[in-house]
Amino acid sequence: AGVLNMQRVAVLGATGSIGTSALDVIARHPDAMRASVVAAGSRVDALLALCLAHRPEHAVIADPAGYAALRDGLREAGLATQAHAGGEALESLVAGDACDTVVAAIVGAAGLPSTLAAARAGKRLLLANKESLVLAGELLMREARRGGATIVPIDSEHNAIFQCLADGNAPARITLTASGGPFRGWSRAALASVTPAQAVAHPKWSMGPKISVDSASLMNKGLEVIEAHHLFGVPGDAIRVLVHPQSLVHSLVDFADGSSLAQLGLPDMRTALAVGLGWPRRIASGVGPLDLLAQGGKLEFEAPDLDAFPCLALAFGALAAGGTAPAVLNAANEEAVSAFLQGRIGFLGIPDTVAATLDAMPPQSADSIDALLAADAGARAAARARIAALPAHGGRA
Ligand code: NAD
Ligand code: MG
Repeated sequence: AGVLNMQRVAVLGATGSIGTSALDVIARHPDAMRASVVAAGSRVDALLALCLAHRPEHAVIADPAGYAALRDGLREAGLATQAHAGGEALESLVAGDACDTVVAAIVGAAGLPSTLAAARAGKRLLLANKESLVLAGELLMREARRGGATIVPIDSEHNAIFQCLADGNAPARITLTASGGPFRGWSRAALASVTPAQAVAHPKWSMGPKISVDSASLMNKGLEVIEAHHLFGVPGDAIRVLVHPQSLVHSLVDFADGSSLAQLGLPDMRTALAVGLGWPRRIASGVGPLDLLAQGGKLEFEAPDLDAFPCLALAFGALAAGGTAPAVLNAANEEAVSAFLQGRIGFLGIPDTVAATLDAMPPQSADSIDALLAADAGARAAARARIAALPAHGGRA
């Protein structure tokens, strides 16, 4: 492919786990694609290092306080990369002609504005930022349809389902697989005293701290149930969750004729990213082939323990309740995870905070972005009040 066919990719959350994996895959295909925009939250040094390695046209730091350091660092390094700061600069770069493809890999609800901008501008949207779908799934899907955007889910489960649905047939049922996280098999009582370091030590996947805690609480799977509902138009009662400790079967789809399709592979997000970057072609990702015998020769499945991991049931409940409930669930969870990582509450304080916030904020209709953002803000305030009243360690009995 010549320069004209070059796929220009904006990598949002470029310094994170998904962003780094995306840049790794992009760099394997220098004749077909390049990173034209990189964006990060506040780590200027890490962003500068990425600019040196990938030489994008634009670099964006979300935190305005980082702008001068970014601009000067780029100049001192002799790079032509333009420095930008703030959310509006990011949204206009995403929507403009600096990129064809957007990797949405900012963590949390902070990723919604740029994800929406990519959807509205009709970009190829490689969507890792699941929180934006949980917060505003209907709106985001509607804007993507209107804008003509192609969404390729980057969450491994949803990427698996996307691959299984490639022939266009509707799924009768979806089964999301879950590794079970670092506390699989633990009792609720044992979970009361776990530390942040234990919670982020995921057995199968290497990920950022927030999603690692979500995986440990099974809230990640709950967010993924809501995500699957929006991406694939399947109601909550047609989505089930199975714990699969080997993390090799990334999800399954059941069809009307009794067939079930699954996608398998090693647990490495570069596969999903390569699917998104190359689609409908298969391109190299750097991930080796799956050798089932080398992986232990066993694929096991078990039901999740909803008593020890109430977050999963809370998410199913929020999806069924509808309206602003998923936005409230997500916001309360973000606040609780952040408090847990800072040692301000125990691990069981996470489901406690989410449940109390959902109770305090009955679902309202969610037909506008303003209603959703108000629910997000209200839930954060309610969650913070709850958190302030919880003990720092051990959560509640
Ligand atoms: P991470 O913590 O490793 O990286 C987060 C990135 O977002 C960083 O680059 C950070 O600078 C940036 N960021 C944070 N706040 C920002 C803001 N306000 N504005 C701009 N940038 C900001 O997280 P991650 O593990 O890469 O996860 C990113 C997203 O992908 C999350 O939504 C997560 O749920 C999803 N996801 C991740 C994985 C995985 O394997 N890591 C798998 C599936 C889905
Ligand atoms: Mg996932």
